[in-house]
Amino acid sequence: ATGQITVHETLPSRVLVGAGARRAVPEETERLGSRRVLLIASGSARAVADDLAGALGPRLAGRFDRPVVHTPVAVTDEALELLREVDADSVVALGGGSAIGLAKALSVRTGLPQVAVPTTYAGSEVTPVLGETKDGVKTTRRDPVIAPGTVVYDPELTLGMPPGLTLTSALNALAHAVEALWAPNATAASDALATEAADGILTTLPAVLADPARLSGRERLQQSAWLAGLCLAQTRMGLHHQLAHALGGTFELPHAELHALLLPHVLAFNLPAAPKAAARLARITGGDPVTVVADLARGHTGPTTLEALGVPRDGLRAVAERVAAQPYPNPRTPDAAAVTRLLENAW
Ligand code: NAD
Repeated sequence: ATGQITVHETLPSRVLVGAGARRAVPEETERLGSRRVLLIASGSARAVADDLAGALGPRLAGRFDRPVVHTPVAVTDEALELLREVDADSVVALGGGSAIGLAKALSVRTGLPQVAVPTTYAGSEVTPVLGETKDGVKTTRRDPVIAPGTVVYDPELTLGMPPGLTLTSALNALAHAVEALWAPNATAASDALATEAADGILTTLPAVLADPARLSGRERLQQSAWLAGLCLAQTRMGLHHQLAHALGGTFELPHAELHALLLPHVLAFNLPAAPKAAARLARITGGDPVTVVADLARGHTGPTTLEALGVPRDGLRAVAERVAAQPYPNPRTPDAAAVTRLLENAW
């Protein structure tokens, strides 16, 4: 008999890292042979997008400024029409996971190359995953061609993140790392990425929240989020991401806030059955990881419970049953009664 064989795949990508790296975007598009750039930007990145548009000069073919969370197909169709109208030959996304998701959706439909310039810690820029919504149903696909070929991490773009987004988006990244530690297809490589990501996030986040405009803290947090995104790209998601998908899809909840409030509850549920993750997180936190993450999550001044997010209590059981019927791989079997209790606690 042979043992279980695990496959570790890395995607070819070119990653630029450093303060001011956004100024290299025009050169990066030239490197791709692009003469007609479609620029997609989150509303929050308007000023940076204006600068980039100026730097691209005549190579800017068009701009689309209204990416929407969870990549609704209707918005993608609208952007696709613009892309064809302006005859774009590359797509640059500047913003959070919503802008990057839209660029992925356009690229997978047209084969055009992408440059992703993230301004949050969601990590989508390094994953081959695309979630799209149509008629209120979110479907997720995974294909190596979906991952942007060029990623530009400029920590200056994160200096203005409000405290709430900083906190919840960083906990979203931490969730990618934590689930990689207990994933059934974890390898030495994914463990290394996940451990460094979790260490970077847990040790840097309090300092960044205390001094949000300090570049060195922002830089380490962003690079930790990069590693966390690589974890998401390389390992299978477990109960945490399944709950986020199920609740987020059913009740249309904000992505990062939902991740942030769920994480301590999933840690409490899973860590007793995940000794490697428990040991590494205990070493990083120097104490009880559940308490440390719960304290961080509670520090959010926005919604910190499912109730506050507007989830009806009587809807929890049905979500738990759906999750239990077709669970993502998870160290502890998520039976419906136990998951209901977890959700009740988060409520
Ligand atoms: P987002 O992109 O929706 O941004 C949230 C809000 O923050 C927006 O209003 C945005 O304009 C603003 N914002 C972004 N960056 C900012 C900054 N630096 N300063 C101030 N405001 C800023 O949120 P997100 O959490 O980054 O992304 C969520 C989306 O990404 C969801 O659709 C989720 O499904 C997707 N996602 C996909 C993957 C993947 O691998 N496919 C991974 C993570 C997230």
